[in-house]
Amino acid sequence: MQSVLRGIPASPGIVVGPVHVLRWEVPEVRQRVIDDSEIPAEIQRLHDAFERARERLRHLRVRAEAAAGPEEAAIFDVQVSILDDKQLTESSEALIRQNLGAEKAFDLVLLEWRQHFARHTAPMLRERVGDLTDVHIRVLSILLDLPDHDPVDLPRGTNAILVTHDLTPSLTMQLDRECISAIATDAGTATAHVAILARSLGLPAVVGLRNALSYLHGGEVAILNGQEGTLMIAPTDAEIAFARQRVAEEAGQADQVRELAMSESITIDGVRITIRANVDVPDESEMAAASGADGVGLMRTEFLVVGRANMPDEDEQYRAYRRVLKAFGSRPVIIRTFDIGGDKLPIGGFPSEANPFLGWRAIRMCLDESELFKVQLKALMRAGVHGDLRVMLPLVVTVDEVRETRQLMEACVEELSARRVPFRADLPLGVMVETPAAAIASDTLVRDVDFFSIGSNDLVQYTLAVDRGNANLAPRFTPFHPAVLRLMAQVQSTGSAHGIDVSVCGEMASQPLAVFAMIGMGIRQLSVAPRAVAGVKRVIRGVRLAAAVEAAQAALASGTAREVETLLRRRLRAELDSQGREHSGLPALF
Ligand code: PEP
Ligand code: MG
Repeated sequence: MQSVLRGIPASPGIVVGPVHVLRWEVPEVRQRVIDDSEIPAEIQRLHDAFERARERLRHLRVRAEAAAGPEEAAIFDVQVSILDDKQLTESSEALIRQNLGAEKAFDLVLLEWRQHFARHTAPMLRERVGDLTDVHIRVLSILLDLPDHDPVDLPRGTNAILVTHDLTPSLTMQLDRECISAIATDAGTATAHVAILARSLGLPAVVGLRNALSYLHGGEVAILNGQEGTLMIAPTDAEIAFARQRVAEEAGQADQVRELAMSESITIDGVRITIRANVDVPDESEMAAASGADGVGLMRTEFLVVGRANMPDEDEQYRAYRRVLKAFGSRPVIIRTFDIGGDKLPIGGFPSEANPFLGWRAIRMCLDESELFKVQLKALMRAGVHGDLRVMLPLVVTVDEVRETRQLMEACVEELSARRVPFRADLPLGVMVETPAAAIASDTLVRDVDFFSIGSNDLVQYTLAVDRGNANLAPRFTPFHPAVLRLMAQVQSTGSAHGIDVSVCGEMASQPLAVFAMIGMGIRQLSVAPRAVAGVKRVIRGVRLAAAVEAAQAALASGTAREVETLLRRRLRAELDSQGREHSGLPALF
């Protein structure tokens, strides 16, 4: 049956390929009572399943080590060690001896273990729950003889479109990009981290499809269009030919896009806007450095951790930061300290808090785990000798967090001096403004920080009380709400009154209408995904500041997000037309 499923555009690009359905969920297990005579065979069945799971994990470990290195591969050791745990075997066997089928016995033990770890007071132990969940799924799938839906071992060379309910950032990091050409999820929104990561990795993606899984079995041919946010199932030959033609056309326009990306970022009347790149993984550095961006406005360091079993040590972090700095030469590189928590957790982590986005994350976790934080600060200070590095703190709500960080930095200076390694002690320190608290009270921060960077993804989430990753709320998640714009204007005015830089680094920074409004509000620095640099420059180079200022004033005085969007669209169109500029290539605009 042919059909077009509509979702939310998350990462541009068109892919024609077979669907690969991924269901990585703990299966339902029915109660099965066995006779006494069956007990020995059932225990043997459990042991055989464990052994098969171990074999599978060893195989995955070898693959992961070859593809991503020993640190990434270590997650599989953790899972093997769970299977080797004597207590796990003994508890499961005890239930089998009480006449339960092996799968139910194992299921009950794992449920209890997961609950126990989820409630553990040590946060790092709580984060082992995800490993337990993976082992739970893996062993039950073997015992129940279910199809193998392993998320990290997909058919090679198939150019597949991965369709799943949701992808955590850690699963996204583990995906084998040689097999997967695009991602489609039922959950998620354009600012969920799976979408942000897909854009970084250059994987076309559609999210928020809601019920694609109920239509699909796997193996169907489909066309995913990441720009339009659609997944077309069982297309006709003519539709496939048309999609392939569009892919070829886009490739043909690459030179033009490149030229635009390299052009000056300046309005018609000569106002210069700094465009920097968001870098999520160090592998992106060289590509981002050649994207036309004037430095890095946000490096999300948590992706060094997400998808891994252990925190990277100081040397490993130092090498990662140095790589980014070297790629960018003398251009500024703003590196954000770990924003772990929310939906960004290491492997094994799943939110064990009732409200993870209001929970123990980002700067809160780093300050509580100060040894872990100091490792990062020392790595940053050491990398600082290789370029223009600036440090940025996520989710700050009070100046105390900045002051505590400075104290830790002083302790790091002493430790590094004692070790006689080269480092920089005076790294500029800025904060992300991503809560109404930080925006409204930005004047209380201004004397202790060197710059502000507005994280619009979280600022929208916390201002409007709309979960950024919830597909059901996607239409309500909008940076054009006057409350969000007014908070941004307030931060900009505090920054300019005190002579400190204000930039914007959330996804809003690459939306044409928002770019127009932000320039008009006085913002002169934006940080966007490297592939978005050309589109943003296109808006900037097509408008005059005076028109942007008028549009921003009207937007700030509006009553609703819809009014704001309508007026910005009308005014930007009119401005581009009056300057004789093309706007057909600005998809997010119209
Ligand atoms: C933001 O919140 O806008 C931001 C840039 O940070 P992240 O998307 O990583 O939360
Ligand atoms: Mg954020």
